Amino acid sequence: MRIVVCIKQVPDIAEMEKMETDPETGNIIREGLPAILNPFDEYAMEEAVSWKERNGDEVIAVTMGPPQAEDALIKCLSMGADQAILLSDRQFAGSDTIATTWTLAGAIRKIGDVDLVLCGQQAIDGDTAQVGPMLAENLHIPQITYVSRLVLEGKYITTTREVEDGYEVVRCKLPALVTVVKGINIPRVPTYNSLSEAMDKEIPVWGAEDLDIEKDRLGLPGSPTAVTRVWTPESRSQGQVLRGEPSELAKQLAEVLLNPLQN
Ligand SMILES: Cc1cc2nc3c(=O)[nH]c(=O)nc-3n(C[C@H](O)[C@H](O)[C@H](O)COP(=O)(O)OP(=O)(O)OC[C@H]3O[C@@H](n4cnc5c(N)ncnc54)[C@H](O)[C@@H]3O)c2cc1C
Repeated sequence: MRIVVCIKQVPDIAEMEKMETDPETGNIIREGLPAILNPFDEYAMEEAVSWKERNGDEVIAVTMGPPQAEDALIKCLSMGADQAILLSDRQFAGSDTIATTWTLAGAIRKIGDVDLVLCGQQAIDGDTAQVGPMLAENLHIPQITYVSRLVLEGKYITTTREVEDGYEVVRCKLPALVTVVKGINIPRVPTYNSLSEAMDKEIPVWGAEDLDIEKDRLGLPGSPTAVTRVWTPESRSQGQVLRGEPSELAKQLAEVLLNPLQN
């Protein structure tokens, strides 16, 4: 079985306060920001490599991003991916979620014979959770989102997905796309040896010319989404803290609730 895991390099959440957006385009200014493998994609990668260890599956990590996204792919290789592919080209710059999806779909078609595509539930920077579902649509395969348990049985998968008021068990024929939630597993921490082996592996870089996609589907020309405004919401007032004896507090609280505008 061939499993493709779509992973994204994102700014390190611990450094989020240093993050700024371009006032004209509304895009995150990524230069100089420390970057990590999107945490949800780490769960997807762990899921794929743990199935590989049991069944001998082939695991391929794919990302679309700038050249430095290679670091996230090295982490995937160190976790146990067999191969990693970087989709990087100036023509991909400015991609919104639709153009990102076309690019990833083009790469998955080029890889060929893919049984299972795994994604994280969302990226912690863009946060739209659109890429997984749109990718499944683009590839014309079924999708199962928000999966917290995954079992591969021959040409079928049985999943448990998290829904608002509980869980749903969904069984589906492969090929399919699954997006995973935090907690589906505990991602392994790469060892020094696995990291140094990963750093020696060659990571092919595919550009627009390598993918069979019309050029107007890619990058900025293929991105109908426009960020019209980005702003920081005003912080709320701190609220009012009532202190004292419970009987006195109850009276004070009643007064605040009955006359909210005066307090
Ligand atoms: C007009 C516009 C211009 C933009 N220009 C840029 C730009 O120049 N550079 C830039 O970095 N971003 C840019 N973005 C942001 C970019 O579109 C999104 O980050 C990207 O499409 C993924 O969306 P998301 O982050 O919401 O991912 P989600 O949909 O939340 O991600 C879900 C899952 O999809 C997979 N995934 C998401 N992105 C990728 C990827 N790139 N490679 C592999 N798998 C992935 C992962 O498994 C992830 O867990 C732009 C956005 C807009 C609207």
